Amino acid sequence: MLTSVEEASVPLRPAVSALPAYVPGARVAAGARAWKLSSNENPYPPLPSVLDAIARGATEANRYPDMYAGELVEALAAHTGVAAENVVVGNGSVAVLAHVLQAVVEHGDEVVFPWRSFEAYPIAVAVAGGKAVTVPVDAVTGRLDLPAMAAAVTPATRVVLVCTPNNPTGPVVHADELETFLAAVPRHVLVVVDEAYLEFVRDPRVADGVDLLRRHPNVVLLRTLSKAYGLAGLRVGYAVAEPRLAAGIRAVSTPFGVSHLAQVAALASLAPAAQDELMQRVEALVTERTRVAGALREQGWELPETQANFVWFGLGDATLQRAGEAKERGVLVRPFAGDGLRVTIGEVEANDAFLAIAATWR
Ligand SMILES: *Cc1c(COP(=O)(O)O)cnc(C)c1O
Repeated sequence: MLTSVEEASVPLRPAVSALPAYVPGARVAAGARAWKLSSNENPYPPLPSVLDAIARGATEANRYPDMYAGELVEALAAHTGVAAENVVVGNGSVAVLAHVLQAVVEHGDEVVFPWRSFEAYPIAVAVAGGKAVTVPVDAVTGRLDLPAMAAAVTPATRVVLVCTPNNPTGPVVHADELETFLAAVPRHVLVVVDEAYLEFVRDPRVADGVDLLRRHPNVVLLRTLSKAYGLAGLRVGYAVAEPRLAAGIRAVSTPFGVSHLAQVAALASLAPAAQDELMQRVEALVTERTRVAGALREQGWELPETQANFVWFGLGDATLQRAGEAKERGVLVRPFAGDGLRVTIGEVEANDAFLAIAATWR
């Protein structure tokens, strides 16, 4: 039998002892059958061309990857419409966010972010030594309150995180709101615009992130290949920033942080033909989102307007109970205890299975 090692008397940083756990979406147990609508994943498997690239890349696994992912950075820059010096990649955009914060946050600096929002935020802020300052999202609409976030900025504020669409509530920030906000925030405060669900947005009132960055160089865009591009398991995210900030983020990044397989899979996904096919899949998911949102409205639900690949039910105290019921009926969803349920838009059958469950909750 294995025994554990005796506890050491080395103190952990208090910020680390106090960290909330990141709760991953429920996974399907081995041998079990369930629809996984708990992690905002893309339900489609990688394209054949991407699988080929991964298989070829696997034969070179004895070699270190390209440290700064030069070819991928070039491709992402071309894709985004910026120069390579503006792009920094990382092991998922969660890692990139950690590097952004490490590059600018000094111990005790304030980091303002909406809540409820992405659960990685409070963890990343605490690990970086920052002080979290949260601003509630609207309880009914699920929208960020940018005037309140601007008002929360003090001389101690170093960073503001803006999540659009907001995970887990779904709505976007509109261009005019963001302009007013950026005009109110001092230019030495970094504004991170997390666009993880960018490709799913169809609301024309959103800001063009790159245009925003050109006019407000204190903006950093965070993007990922985990959601629309369906590479969550390989971990590729990136930041788009002015060159000096980008260099700072690069400097603190984990060496060889993006694996060779992740680099080749991302490159293959950005090839024009793959890109077309992947965006058709995104379009199909957006069509499903419209269908699901319409069906839920018909059931009588009044939910926040989602522009992402998920819907939000502010169920309050009933949240865990409802998540349990969904699981019993073969659908895994993501509960946030006492607050609400997030349900990913998946394949048609999965969505139908969930809609049948949601109808029983009315
Ligand atoms: C999923 C998600 C990310 C991306 O995470 P990766 O680390 O790139 O997989 C970033 N921000 C938000 C708000 C997300 O929901």
